[in-house]
Amino acid sequence: MTQPLDKSPQSSTPEHASDANSTSRSPKRRCICCRGNGGKYALLRFVVAEHAIYFDLRQKLPGRGFYVCAQKHCLEKAFASAFRRVTKCGPQNLGDSCEAFVSDILLPGLRKRASELLRAGMQSRQLLLGVEGVELAAKNDTLGCYVLATDASAATAQKYRANATRKGLPCIELFDRTYYGRLFGKSDKVVLGWIPGTLCEEFYAIAAAIGRLDPTMNTCLTASDKG
Ligand SMILES: [Zn+2]
Repeated sequence: MTQPLDKSPQSSTPEHASDANSTSRSPKRRCICCRGNGGKYALLRFVVAEHAIYFDLRQKLPGRGFYVCAQKHCLEKAFASAFRRVTKCGPQNLGDSCEAFVSDILLPGLRKRASELLRAGMQSRQLLLGVEGVELAAKNDTLGCYVLATDASAATAQKYRANATRKGLPCIELFDRTYYGRLFGKSDKVVLGWIPGTLCEEFYAIAAAIGRLDPTMNTCLTASDKG
């Protein structure tokens, strides 16, 4: 499947991308289920400690890590057999079922991580808030991706999707303006943008995972389909 979802903001590649040519900085990880490769943030990390499996949201827990694509298909396979095959222990620590893990642990974790990244992005000025900054960065070719509130007006959404397509950049539509208002203490942030970098990469990967795994979220990523 080649969905526009998998267009990544930089050279870091999601699981389906094949060649590891040129400048990709982050080491490749391999999914224990489909054997697909991905950059650091494209796959979910798990670790084993004291005979139990833990989900490593921030990819920082000590110990030997192993990776699963943030896709229903691979997660189901992991719960059915791959966790046990690889770790010699069952996934009961992660929840009663794959569905329970996704809804009770994974998705709340990803949303929390997305908030952390947005805050870190604002503090380090890698996240641009508001139309002026975003448009200036786009003009100077220093934009990594667009972010739109999910309740942006149809005209705004259409405009920035088209800009993103023209620039060959992703346009992430995640969270509504109330959410951004709460996060940044300012009202009405509808258009945001990331400067390229690891925060941008990780945010993109998380938004893509939320979009794939949460059918109730009005999340969508659009991007140019020309390579
Ligand atoms: Zn996989």
